[in-house]
Amino acid sequence: MLHMFQSKFIHGVILFSSSVLFGLSNAHAEDARISNPIAIAIHGGAGTISKENFTPEQETAYRNKLKEAVDRGYLVLQQGGTSTDAVIAAIQILEASPFFNAGVGAVYTYDGEHELDASLMDGKTLEAGAVSGVKHVSSPIALARAVKDKSPHVMLSGEGAEEFARQQNRPMVENSHFDTPHRKLQLDKAKQKLNKTEAETDIKSAYQTLPTNFKYGTVGAVAVDKFGNLASGTSTGGMTAKRFGRVGDSPIIGAGTYANNDSCAVSATGHGEYFIRYHVAADICARMQYQDIPLAQAAETVVNQVLVDAGGSGGVIAIDAKGNISMPFNSKGMYRASRKQDEPAYVAIFKTE
Ligand code: ASP
Repeated sequence: MLHMFQSKFIHGVILFSSSVLFGLSNAHAEDARISNPIAIAIHGGAGTISKENFTPEQETAYRNKLKEAVDRGYLVLQQGGTSTDAVIAAIQILEASPFFNAGVGAVYTYDGEHELDASLMDGKTLEAGAVSGVKHVSSPIALARAVKDKSPHVMLSGEGAEEFARQQNRPMVENSHFDTPHRKLQLDKAKQKLNKTEAETDIKSAYQTLPTNFKYGTVGAVAVDKFGNLASGTSTGGMTAKRFGRVGDSPIIGAGTYANNDSCAVSATGHGEYFIRYHVAADICARMQYQDIPLAQAAETVVNQVLVDAGGSGGVIAIDAKGNISMPFNSKGMYRASRKQDEPAYVAIFKTE
């Protein structure tokens, strides 16, 4: 902590004195700082994902889509865009793909609809925007950005969020726009199982017995731009057969999404109820900052110790201002990809990659 403060202080003094000595304008002083290595990481959800669930063609298609999204975000950074722009660009590719539980391909609620959640945070300003339970907004992550930039609030839900979306001229769609046959099948199977177990036990126990692959598939991205600024975003359909306006961790700042230039940016995926209770994203950043430990150690501890002890499955993607990336998960697999300055893209699905 102390050395972080010292290095910032020294950095500031050097910039200030060089500006004074060489008569640099503020803009030039800003330029002198824009050499930060750029990097991005994305996820497409964690869960019971193993090789035998895929045909070779399906596996290739998933990998190609992850690569397309990470490359798209990286291009934004390469062209001098901000980390927020990069996060949005990558997430929008995944929202538009039927492979992931966000946007098109979102899971169904118990009542056969889609209720979408998303959030976004800027690590420089700590400004954030989030939406929950929206049904007709074509890109929930873009609406989260509008909430951050154009509303006086951080989080909007349901009909109010949609009214705001219309006011902001966000593209609106029918709820059926997000339909996919494979998610419908998943809902039918989940309801069959739920109705049977609920009749024998109670609603709480019934949901606890749903297999984990009914729950996950969220998408997210974290990035650092050439200015050294961090951003994080997450978008999801939530959990199959969710009821009563259930909201998971994804739209909750501190649980599913967090970014702070002083520590790191995190986007989570997994059993949302645990990620809310253990405020996973913010906890990783706080551990880094207060314990002065590296990103990977903070992320690993929370995902593979704290969450495992609690019984919460899932994973995170995390990045720090130096472009270090950590993507731990405690489930069988996690769709993930990353790209760093001057390195080829890394794309992975299974544990041992
Ligand atoms: N965390 C999300 C939720 O609980 C689900 C996921 O990550 O797939 O809503």
